[in-house]
Amino acid sequence: MTLTSTDHVVVVGAGLAGWRFIESLRRDGYEGKITLIGDEPYAPYDRPPLSKQVLSGKWEIDKTVLASDEALKNANITSIFGVSATSLDVTSHTVTLDNGETISGTHIVIATGTRARKIPFSDQSLVHTIRNRKDIEGLNALLATVPDGATVAVIGGGFIGAEAATALKARGLTPVVLEALQRPLIGALGDQASQWLLALATNAEVELRTSQVIRDVIDGSVVFADGSSLEVAAVVLGVGAEVNTEWLQSSGLVLDGGVVVDEHLLATPTIGALGDVAKFPFKGELTRIEHWQVATDHAAALSLHWAKGEKAPDMVPYFWSDQYGKKIQMLGHPHPSDDVVKVAGSDEEGRWLALYSRGGVVTGILSLSQPRWLMVSKVLLDEETTLTRAMELQPWA
Ligand SMILES: Cc1cc2nc3c(=O)[nH]c(=O)nc-3n(C[C@H](O)[C@H](O)[C@H](O)COP(=O)(O)OP(=O)(O)OC[C@H]3O[C@@H](n4cnc5c(N)ncnc54)[C@H](O)[C@@H]3O)c2cc1C
Repeated sequence: MTLTSTDHVVVVGAGLAGWRFIESLRRDGYEGKITLIGDEPYAPYDRPPLSKQVLSGKWEIDKTVLASDEALKNANITSIFGVSATSLDVTSHTVTLDNGETISGTHIVIATGTRARKIPFSDQSLVHTIRNRKDIEGLNALLATVPDGATVAVIGGGFIGAEAATALKARGLTPVVLEALQRPLIGALGDQASQWLLALATNAEVELRTSQVIRDVIDGSVVFADGSSLEVAAVVLGVGAEVNTEWLQSSGLVLDGGVVVDEHLLATPTIGALGDVAKFPFKGELTRIEHWQVATDHAAALSLHWAKGEKAPDMVPYFWSDQYGKKIQMLGHPHPSDDVVKVAGSDEEGRWLALYSRGGVVTGILSLSQPRWLMVSKVLLDEETTLTRAMELQPWA
């Protein structure tokens, strides 16, 4: 049943997915009541610039705002910021808040995202994650006190770690990336692609140490398992994320490393989950994808379903990452174990395009600093295309 103007949609989580959902819902014609609840004391803002422009010092934090005062006013919603949802009663659609209040609606949207994983090092004063505004403000305040060229350890060489190292270098510091695995991004992009990307850090004159076992951060140093240590002015921790689902523990919703939803992003006909927190069916498997574009596409899809009773076109996941002076972009969501082959460009040129495939069918397209080749090749994923056919078509050529 589609939404009517007497409904009340309660959105929990005032991040990208929650805000994009509200924008979509108004665009799709819903005129009823909307309440937006967020535990951060700010209007929705964008996270990708935090590890890029805001850390490098190019942007003030205010430039990340997604929902300006005017946009919030025009959306005609009730917003409650700086307050956490602590539980959800799915029968009455009632959200309980940590200030003791309850909010009841007819429909609930769960968009509580993820938080940065922490490690209980002995000395936390130098250690900063980059997930939210408070994190980056704390890190920038610390970095403002350290001398030019100071060493900053970046624990984790994945997307956030690599972006942080790039930004730290750009602001005149000396990042040292400490990666636990034999290569960064091996878990995300697979063995082969991680080899192709291994030289990026060195080419950008950033020190990358792989197969690192860290025992502790203490007395201004990172201490390694072999007893050696690295004196640092700060530590950036980029070791993945954990889903914010604790508040749903007693709800009875299926939680399996995320809120399990169907192809419409629904946990029940009147409760949806979006973005980083949602575990949704994609190509026959339940998956959770932490990409900006996926959160946006989820928001549009649930809005279309509730406001108009329509199904959104199948999503093609997309992400980008700006690291070591290069742009890495991916379309699709291949398994790291899928085959991958470079089809255009080369390391020497500093730009290339590669196709992932499983069982001879294209599952993903990865590009290094070649956005145009990537985008024109999306047709290969809009419909299932065999690798053989892709090589005949060569949309990138
Ligand atoms: C530093 C950084 C850089 C990134 N760069 C890229 C990039 O280059 N490319 C890319 O594709 N993706 C990138 N991403 C990922 C992208 O930003 C996320 O996929 C996107 O923000 C997910 O949106 P979301 O709304 O699901 O979650 P979030 O943006 O995390 O929003 C969830 C909100 O809910 C709040 N919340 C949590 N629990 C509660 C509760 N109980 N009650 C009320 N509120 C609650 C959270 O505090 C948060 O404000 C980056 C992420 C980070 C952190």
